[in-house]
Amino acid sequence: MRVIHSVRNLHSWRNKKELLEGTIGFVPTMGALHDGHLSLMQRARKHCRTVVVSVFVNPLQFGETEDLGRYPRSFHADRRLCREAGVDLLFAPPPEEFYPENFQTTVRVNSLTQRWEGEARPTHFQGVTTVVTKLFCLVRPHRAYFGQKDYQQCLVVNQLIHDLNLDMRMIRCPTVRESDGLAVSSRNQYLSAHQRVQAGLLSKALRQGRDAIRTGIRNVRTIQARMEKILGNNSDVHMEYLAICDSKNLEPLTQLRGTVVILGAVRLGTIRLIDNLLVRCP
Ligand code: AMP
Repeated sequence: MRVIHSVRNLHSWRNKKELLEGTIGFVPTMGALHDGHLSLMQRARKHCRTVVVSVFVNPLQFGETEDLGRYPRSFHADRRLCREAGVDLLFAPPPEEFYPENFQTTVRVNSLTQRWEGEARPTHFQGVTTVVTKLFCLVRPHRAYFGQKDYQQCLVVNQLIHDLNLDMRMIRCPTVRESDGLAVSSRNQYLSAHQRVQAGLLSKALRQGRDAIRTGIRNVRTIQARMEKILGNNSDVHMEYLAICDSKNLEPLTQLRGTVVILGAVRLGTIRLIDNLLVRCP
C-alpha cells in the first residue's frame, strides 16, 4: 500500500493511472477508522481494480462550537487497517496542504442541505461538498463509496455528482451496527458507559417506526408518537428530530407511499448521534 500526503504526489500517481485499465474506487473518511469504514473499503475492494482511501479531518465541515479539536485521530491504526483491507493508496494530506492560506472556493448544494442536519449544523454540508469536490478532482474515481448512516450526505453528494456532470457513481453502502442496533460511529467512543446504553434508544425508536409502517399504520402522527415515546421517557437523551420523509428530497411526509426514510438525531450531553432507516411501504 502506498501512502501519499501531498497533493502534488497524488496528481502524479493519478496521471500514471490514466494509462492503465480498471476501475478506481474511492472511500473518503475522516479517519478513526471502524467497522463502518471497513465495510466501504471491502465493498470497493470487491468491485474495483484500485482502491483509494482518504483520511482527512476536514475543518470546513465543523461548526465553530463543534468538536474539531477533539475529533479522534489515529493515523497509525488507520494505516494498518487500510493495509489489512487491501487498500492500494492512502491519501492523508495535512490541512495546510489541502487548504493553503489563500483558499477561497466553496461548493454548495442548495435545497437538499436546508433541513435536518443542515438546520442543526448550518455550515456543515458546504464543508462536506467542498472537500468531496476537491477529493473527487484529485482522485478522479469511477466509484465513490459512502455509508447510508449519513443518508442526507449521500443524497447531497449524489446531487453534486449529477449537477457537476462528474463521470462517476456514488455507491451507498448499508449502515454497520453494534449488537443493540447503535450505528457504529467514531463519536461513539466519547459516550460514557451509561450514555452508551441510552444511545441504543435512537435505533430502537427508528425500528419502532419501521415496524409500525410495516404493520400497516399510515397515520404519520401515530407513528411519530410511538417513536418519540421511546426517547421521551429518557431525560439523558435529547431528541433533535425524528422525521418520516420522502427518501429522495427529504421533505417530511403527511401521506406514506413508496420508499420513505425515517431520519433521527439525538444529543447525549455534548455528543450528537444521527441514524436513519429506509422503509418500503407495503
Ligand atoms: P466519516 O469518517 O465519519 O466522515 O465517515 C466516512 C464514511 O464512512 C461516510 O461515507 C460515512 O457515511 C461512512 N460510515 C460511517 N459510519 C458508518 C457505519 N456505521 N456504517 C456504514 N458506513 C459508515
